[in-house]
Amino acid sequence: MGKKALLAILIIMMLIVLSESAIFFIRAFSTTQIDDVTPGIPCGEDLLEKSDVFFVIPKFEGRGIGVEDDWCEKMLLSGKKLEMHGVYHVYNELYTLRNESYINEGVIEFNKCFGKKPDGFKAPQLALSSENKRVIGGMGMRNYGYWNQLTHKVYHCNDSGVLPNWMIDLF
Ligand SMILES: [Zn+2]
Repeated sequence: MGKKALLAILIIMMLIVLSESAIFFIRAFSTTQIDDVTPGIPCGEDLLEKSDVFFVIPKFEGRGIGVEDDWCEKMLLSGKKLEMHGVYHVYNELYTLRNESYINEGVIEFNKCFGKKPDGFKAPQLALSSENKRVIGGMGMRNYGYWNQLTHKVYHCNDSGVLPNWMIDLF
């Protein structure tokens, strides 16, 4: 092997190490998020405590958060940033074509609970079609996608529902 080839391999290896440490560095200092926050899914207090942003499912298993007064108050008192995570959080929810009124069902529940609309949206398992992405953007919400998940520490509440945590983490 020539010197040039060796040098090229060395440079490539250095770039890999650098980009991985950059991701590690970014994750260490970026906000921590927790997905699957909703009254129907048990969630560790320590996980909630450690997280800066709560991604709330507004109608998990059809249970609207809008009527959960104590729960809503607890979430608001935490002082954490609250964002929306799907509507019902069913499998491939946002791969199925959804219109504004479907997404709005979740926004209405969110608003009833917290007295404000969400600024941002994260699709369950990050599975989001480009059509649905446009619908969400058109409603004025920021989409949290793969880049967000890569650059932030993301916890999940104890998901004993539709999908186990290990499966969600594959996506
Ligand atoms: Zn989720």
